[in-house]
Amino acid sequence: MINSTAEIALDIRRQDAVGADFHEALPEKVADLIDNLENTGSIEEAELAINKPGRDSQYLGLTISPMRSEDGSSKSGQVVVCRDLQLSREVQKLRELDAMKNDFLSLVTHKLRTPLTSIMAYSETLLMDEEGEVPGEWREYITIIHSEGRRLCRLIDDVLDLTRMEAGKMSYDYETQDPNEIIGAVVMSLTPQLEEKCHHLELDLDENVGDCRLAVDRITQVLTNIFSNAIKYTDAGGTIVISSKRAEPFPESSTPTLLITVKDNGIGIAPENLDRVFSKFEMVESVKHHTSGTGLSMAICRQIVEEGHGGKIWLESELGHGTTVNVQIPVA
Ligand code: ATP
Ligand code: MG
Repeated sequence: MINSTAEIALDIRRQDAVGADFHEALPEKVADLIDNLENTGSIEEAELAINKPGRDSQYLGLTISPMRSEDGSSKSGQVVVCRDLQLSREVQKLRELDAMKNDFLSLVTHKLRTPLTSIMAYSETLLMDEEGEVPGEWREYITIIHSEGRRLCRLIDDVLDLTRMEAGKMSYDYETQDPNEIIGAVVMSLTPQLEEKCHHLELDLDENVGDCRLAVDRITQVLTNIFSNAIKYTDAGGTIVISSKRAEPFPESSTPTLLITVKDNGIGIAPENLDRVFSKFEMVESVKHHTSGTGLSMAICRQIVEEGHGGKIWLESELGHGTTVNVQIPVA
């Protein structure tokens, strides 16, 4: 017997195979394996490349096992199962490439840090200029060197964070804290940017959310990015609403969750671009609205929320009307 998938996989025709000696009907390697099996009587595993003229070789994984007669004594045949290995090989190759890219990135970023530290230190020293020796115009240049250096530092930190996270080497320090306090601290730190753009901020914080177990620094990082995105991607004089509340457990869980949302009435994101927001180095809205971003932060946020806290982060957005970012985390 032979099924039609096997006909295609082994490149043979049923009418030629059924009734024929398997040495003639099957590819040589398969026939050899069956011979082998006759001797050992155990299950054989093998890989096989089938070359079809004019096409790439096809890789098959084979498992050949003896069929026993009902009383289990004598063998009555063999079952040959073929699996297409093409896809799993490609996935494997992509995984290896991804790991290589991560190693490379983390090496390069580490190496960049040392010279950059010197650049920062020397430009800071020049800016201090207690003797008043640095001419005004130079000061301006040095300020630019310093602020661009800081931007590069941020990019390096982000890349390092991300490669560490992807390699599963990120450490989280969990503490018990009131999430509203974290929100308060984030709002405080971003108040200058908020005021600069004359945005109106509304806080809708549920006082009863209670203490939660969170990696406070990491959640601060998440909320800082989401909130600063809301400020950045909303034209001046916009409204931003931050809310927190207890929410239903995730499906198949009984642990209640914490839901934090940051809603803006800014430029919004087109539906076809929503998924790209969480991609690395992806900036949906280009340089017009800001020049200092790296496009890595949302990818980092997703890692922190999902891997670090077993939660979910998602966006709802309408182009030209605004964006809502939701962070939901189970709280023990
Ligand atoms: P950085 O890494 O410095 O934060 P960034 O803000 O550009 O840079 P992300 O925070 O990762 O990068 O966001 C990715 C992209 O998603 C942004 O460039 C922007 O196009 C889009 N985006 C994120 N939040 C909003 C928002 N509230 N409104 C509109 N677009 C947004
Ligand atoms: Mg951002």
